Amino acid sequence: MQLGCHGLVWTGSFDEAGFDLAVAETKQAGYDLLEFPLMDPYSFDVAAAKRSLARNPIAITSSLGLPAYADISTAEPEKVQAGEDFLNRCVEVLSELGSHYLVGAIFSQLTKYMAPATDDGRKASQDVLNKVADRARGLGIQLGLEVVNRYETNLFNTGRGALAFIEEIGNDNIGVHLDTYHMNIEEPDMYRPVLETRAKLMYVHIGESHRGYLGSGSVDFDGFYRALAEIGYDGPMVFESFSSSVVSAELSNNLGIWRNLWDDSRDLARHAHAFMAGQLRAVETIELH
Ligand code: MN
Repeated sequence: MQLGCHGLVWTGSFDEAGFDLAVAETKQAGYDLLEFPLMDPYSFDVAAAKRSLARNPIAITSSLGLPAYADISTAEPEKVQAGEDFLNRCVEVLSELGSHYLVGAIFSQLTKYMAPATDDGRKASQDVLNKVADRARGLGIQLGLEVVNRYETNLFNTGRGALAFIEEIGNDNIGVHLDTYHMNIEEPDMYRPVLETRAKLMYVHIGESHRGYLGSGSVDFDGFYRALAEIGYDGPMVFESFSSSVVSAELSNNLGIWRNLWDDSRDLARHAHAFMAGQLRAVETIELH
């Protein structure tokens, strides 16, 4: 299993210097993988990232929320087309970086919708994802749909909802991406969603209830890790944490990162790696079947 760290633990900008910093620190903290936010694949400097990764190789994944102009869940033809182009460009960028995963809120904007999703919007989002997933398959990239809470999307907010959404698409290159921070808001417990989505579970974010240090909030990590062991999950597991001490102009505001939960990125990342490795080790030792 690959343990990963989100880039915003280290920096809010992913230019060459930011990439160099995030890769070096992620590796030094013991991780195998760096996830970075690809909020604008058109302005992202692919050549700089490639140079950085050539100097210091590490597995790369990317997550994002769609911008308003490219919201494929609106069923507005111009936005749907812009979203398809946007996602195809993301896939191209990730292919150039040797990545195998594009994850996050790639089905809608990451925002508080003021009305339920419409049938047309749902269908438009699914149609685009189906096409992008076909194209991504040829480049060795899988799409993971992140289950986020009701204040960040209106398409689905539970593992069960994501599973239904994906089964309607019927494309085997699309899977479920669970995040403990969001599960803690929307799910009845941390165990059942993992078992319910087991056939499609592709990617996992490990975040605390306040997005700070693991183990200092209300997430039931014991139950979550037992469930992952029960299904034999072996996909990427990425630590996600945000503090106002590291700011991304686009992402921090979308996610509502107003509080300072930590200042010491190194201490935070090392603690999280030990916490996740410890949970994995603990569930290895118990008889689950
Ligand atoms: Mn997440």
